[in-house]
Amino acid sequence: MDLSVFSEMESEVRSYIRSFPTQFTTARGSQIWDVDGRSYIDFFCGAGTLNYGHNNPIIKQKVIDYIAGDNIQHALDMATVAKQEFLEAFRDVILRPRQLDYKLQFTGPTGANAVEAALKIARQVTGRRSVIAFTHAFHGVSLGALAATANSWFRDGAGTALPDVVFQPYDGYFGPDIDTVSMLRTLLDDASSGVDLPAAVIVETVQGEGGVNVASTQWLRDLEHVCRERGILLIVDDIQIGIGRSGQFFSFEESGVTPDLVTLSKSLSGYGFPMSLVLIRPELDVWKPGMHSGTFRGNNVAFVGATAAIREYWTTSEFESHIGRRSVLVEERIAGIAATAPEMFATRGRGLLQGLVCADPAVAKAISRGSFERGLIVETSGAQDEVVKLMPTLVGEDDLLIEGLEIIEAAAAAALAR
Ligand SMILES: *Cc1c(COP(=O)(O)O)cnc(C)c1O
Repeated sequence: MDLSVFSEMESEVRSYIRSFPTQFTTARGSQIWDVDGRSYIDFFCGAGTLNYGHNNPIIKQKVIDYIAGDNIQHALDMATVAKQEFLEAFRDVILRPRQLDYKLQFTGPTGANAVEAALKIARQVTGRRSVIAFTHAFHGVSLGALAATANSWFRDGAGTALPDVVFQPYDGYFGPDIDTVSMLRTLLDDASSGVDLPAAVIVETVQGEGGVNVASTQWLRDLEHVCRERGILLIVDDIQIGIGRSGQFFSFEESGVTPDLVTLSKSLSGYGFPMSLVLIRPELDVWKPGMHSGTFRGNNVAFVGATAAIREYWTTSEFESHIGRRSVLVEERIAGIAATAPEMFATRGRGLLQGLVCADPAVAKAISRGSFERGLIVETSGAQDEVVKLMPTLVGEDDLLIEGLEIIEAAAAAALAR
């Protein structure tokens, strides 16, 4: 296999090709194949973009039919049948049964663009500029979203000011005994703390890129309370942990928190097509026509995929049970790995976003590399890339899931024996 054209032609910014140096061809369900015919189990899933698996056959058929029928693909934000069907499915299957009332804004197709739009709304509605984000947060790399992203690796790429965001400690940042929402409350109530009343707080209920840090249900409820009391808008960035990854469609369902604004992207289209959405509490929909625009807001083939995924998987609670069962398999297995070397490993996570936390980042790296050599794609995350981040498909049979977990087990044992 010759990967030389990639290093010859492609910018140094390329990244995952360095961790997984092969050339992929086909993919189905939880598996990917490379040009040499080697198969890999996918525990990465495009960082949560392929929750329904690669080339999901149910979604694929709808997409093929749509394309084969010369149905309209690009229409900016004009009305199409595909968009109507998505809006109806999202209203009837996702929002109404959860008693949620949101308007939908289709933004440009990246998650970052949805975050940009949500931040703009919060600033317009409140007339305030400042936003509170959290330590280890990741919200994307366009300037507005990057301002709310904590990692200096990404921030250093900006070369300009990243203004109007103040970072506060996430749940557990100072250990389990320090309640960081209560700290936030104190800072906001002290007119001389230097922390201005913000337009919004933006939060991930589980920080995927930040190292699989999990906010507790109580912390989220307290955070919502702090926001409500002070007229601060609560933005939940559900781009990575949403669309079933947590075990439910929205990651905040379990806590009972109702965000003012929600960002969705990654697995929304069901098929890896670019598509992003901001959910807006109706009274906060202050946009004037076209004020936030984007050429690819109307990705109709993505609407078709999203509608198929919603109708297939979310009309009953069966899928939630399925995710729950798979989550237990993963949790038990990585707890077993952690038990082999408690001084090296800890685990944390929710649903099918689980982390094997390594005291030594080199061990996490060795597990990821060793897994790749054994036929499994798994990424690391966290400030030092010290967390092996397991994100298997939500859909699928247990045999491949177990096989993947066995590979991690073997790679972990080999990493410890180095
Ligand atoms: C991936 C991600 C984003 C950014 O999405 P892009 O499509 O890469 O712009 C924002 N927030 C979270 C939580 C993400 O995981």
